[in-house]
Amino acid sequence: MGIIANEAVFSPSYVPDRLPHREQQLQQLDTLFGGWLRSPGNHYPRATLLGRPGTGKTVTLRKLWELRRGEAAARFVYINGFLFRNFTTIVGEIAKSLNIPFPRRGLSRDEFLALLVEHLRERDIYVFLVLDDAFNFAPDILSTFIRLGQETDKLGSFRIALAAVGHSDTILNNLDPSTRGIMGKYVVRFTPYTKDQIFDILLERARAGLADGSYSEEILQMIADITGAQSPLDTNRGDARLAIDILYRAAHLAQQSGRRQITPEDVRRSSKEVLFGVSEEVLVGLPLHEKLFLLAVVRTLKTTRAPYVSFGDAEEVYKMICEEYGEKPRVHSQLWTYLGDLRERGIIETRQNKKGEGMRGRTTLISIGTEPLDTLEAVLTKMINEELK
Ligand code: ADP
Ligand code: MG
Repeated sequence: MGIIANEAVFSPSYVPDRLPHREQQLQQLDTLFGGWLRSPGNHYPRATLLGRPGTGKTVTLRKLWELRRGEAAARFVYINGFLFRNFTTIVGEIAKSLNIPFPRRGLSRDEFLALLVEHLRERDIYVFLVLDDAFNFAPDILSTFIRLGQETDKLGSFRIALAAVGHSDTILNNLDPSTRGIMGKYVVRFTPYTKDQIFDILLERARAGLADGSYSEEILQMIADITGAQSPLDTNRGDARLAIDILYRAAHLAQQSGRRQITPEDVRRSSKEVLFGVSEEVLVGLPLHEKLFLLAVVRTLKTTRAPYVSFGDAEEVYKMICEEYGEKPRVHSQLWTYLGDLRERGIIETRQNKKGEGMRGRTTLISIGTEPLDTLEAVLTKMINEELK
């Protein structure tokens, strides 16, 4: 008998019976959407869910649907912003979820939208539309879907309820003022999980998925300590996905070694294998050459063992890596853009060098504070190889 008693409990699509510490958010969402889902049509329910990765936004939306689907007169359409980003693929995915035959291309944006609206009206369909991780969409695309729900003269009634998910207020601030006004009031916040909260989540997950006696509370506490936030304002931590991932890997390690119990050493080893601040989803979404540039930063930091790498050095290594992969290097200014983007996404930090740091003139120094470099290198290399296959 192994340690992992139920693999499904650790799969990304698993929705646990209970969501400790998300009762309030679930209640808020139910207040906004519950009534409409039962008898839709007379208003436009909408909400923006905000919180750092791993704070339970997706699972809470799935739970809401699980609770209400039995009595719902609307259908659930889920769009993953990491997978579907441009307008045509989003509309295509909505149509597919609703079994609407739809041309794949050849129409303008307005024509696509008009076609979708027509189908909704003619088939008398109501849609609970979830735009998950919607910060991946250009603001004008997000605006279009936000406004769609208001088009009652075309839709015949209020046929759409909308939940948009983001990491921070930026997603709202990027919208034009009048669209922002439509979403503005209905914000549901997901604060980073504290250590105690992560502990509770891990305990339930362990009970559901691991063999009795294979884990101790100390093991769960240890994982909670390295992943949980000090306070709800500490946005560098508090990621339940990461905590569950470490638990799963630790269980796996112990099981593979033929042991019946997870040890602290299993936790230590597993936590070195996972990414901390950055989620893999974010990395996957980066353009190929941004990944190559980031790989250059990682490799330089690894070989020099210094806390910082200069932009110039990273650029040199980037060119070598491009050669290795048979890719034409992007120009200097493009690399600057990548640098800015990587910083904005919280993957790297940058600062200007100070006098006496061994470099002449002004240089930008790049560091990576939160990630084990080996893990980051392995993940990036795997993604790049797959992309170039
Ligand atoms: P987000 O969408 O905010 O990035 P998710 O909803 O995907 O986060 O949650 C990340 C992982 O943590 C998922 O496996 C989810 O099931 C789990 N999780 C998050 N919050 C809770 C909670 N309150 N109780 C149980 N599991 C949770
Ligand atoms: Mg999510």
